[in-house]
Amino acid sequence: MAPSLGATVTGKSLVHQRIVGDKLPTTDATNNTESSQQTEKLNASNNEATHKSTKKQQDEHQQSTLLKRETTSAATTTLKTIHESGSGELVWRNIFLFVVLHSSIPIGIYMMWTQRPYKTMLYALLLTYLSALGVTAGAHRLWSHRSYKARWPVQVLLIILQTLAGQNSVYTWSRDHRVHHKFSETDADPHNIKRGFFFAHMGWLCTRKHPEVLSKGKLIDMSDLEANPYVAFQHKHFWWMAALFTVAVPTAIPCLMWNERFWTSFVLSFMFRYALALHGTWLVNSAAHYYGSRPYDEHIEARESPVVIYTGVGEGFHNYHHAFPSDYSTSEFGKYLNITTAFIDTMASIGLVYGRRKIDAKMILQRRARTGDLQAS
Ligand SMILES: [Zn+2]
Ligand SMILES: [Zn+2]
Repeated sequence: MAPSLGATVTGKSLVHQRIVGDKLPTTDATNNTESSQQTEKLNASNNEATHKSTKKQQDEHQQSTLLKRETTSAATTTLKTIHESGSGELVWRNIFLFVVLHSSIPIGIYMMWTQRPYKTMLYALLLTYLSALGVTAGAHRLWSHRSYKARWPVQVLLIILQTLAGQNSVYTWSRDHRVHHKFSETDADPHNIKRGFFFAHMGWLCTRKHPEVLSKGKLIDMSDLEANPYVAFQHKHFWWMAALFTVAVPTAIPCLMWNERFWTSFVLSFMFRYALALHGTWLVNSAAHYYGSRPYDEHIEARESPVVIYTGVGEGFHNYHHAFPSDYSTSEFGKYLNITTAFIDTMASIGLVYGRRKIDAKMILQRRARTGDLQAS
């Protein structure tokens, strides 16, 4: 701005001096006077022309500056919007894998209808629940929230069951989940429900992570899991472990034990049950943040969701869980329909689990009175 304006002023001054100097050679007084008058007129005219020309230049310059400012402002706003809403860039590899995986649902239903492989169907259902336990009792309650302590046999079992679920390593799962709790319903929440039901359900796995998720994720303390030998081993060797425990072993068992057809076992024991368990877990992030009551904290989106209590093997008491994340049973009412809590309690009864953390009833009542929706039951 300043150098440009200065150049304009200097230019005007030079032009004025040059015009005045051109009309001064005559010596006649009258002529001189006339000439002087003419010169003044000419000067005035030239001054006016110069002034107009300069004014035009200034106007053009101002318009150009204004245009530049508007363009810069529009670009900044666009970048800000992209940054704030997440780039939304699609991860085609994941989308392709999800399409292939979901194709197993109609194929699996057709196989079940035409072949009636009852043993394999029951086995696939059992695997669905076992893998879900690996996620809920393992990745969620034990490792993400440290809500109880487990001896090595339970840790090894839960690592294998969590690998069977094929939902990334415990380390990655727990980091995302800790970020979800700490930055709920903000851009840093990996499955932010404010971006819609589908995004929170599975859309977040089909798009690149929001920059805030990455930057805030680095602030999360993961030193406890880095020091855990079972978690560290699984994280380091996740892909071969997943090939073995998510795909190969589940498919091989029916073929070896009761001579199931390979493709029937592959579709039902791996693909179909994997898709089912994924949706069971995803419903905690979507439905349990969308439908239901908020008796403990009405200021957050997490809700008590009766449907998700079944699909998430006890993880549907989600308003309570977000209010009291350190409670090992993730609910006020103990074992009621809470398969994961029943598993942890069973392990505790034989001495393989200890240090279960439970929230005091008085504290729950105080929290309900302070932040809960008093109309909710
Ligand atoms: Zn949640
Ligand atoms: Zn949690």
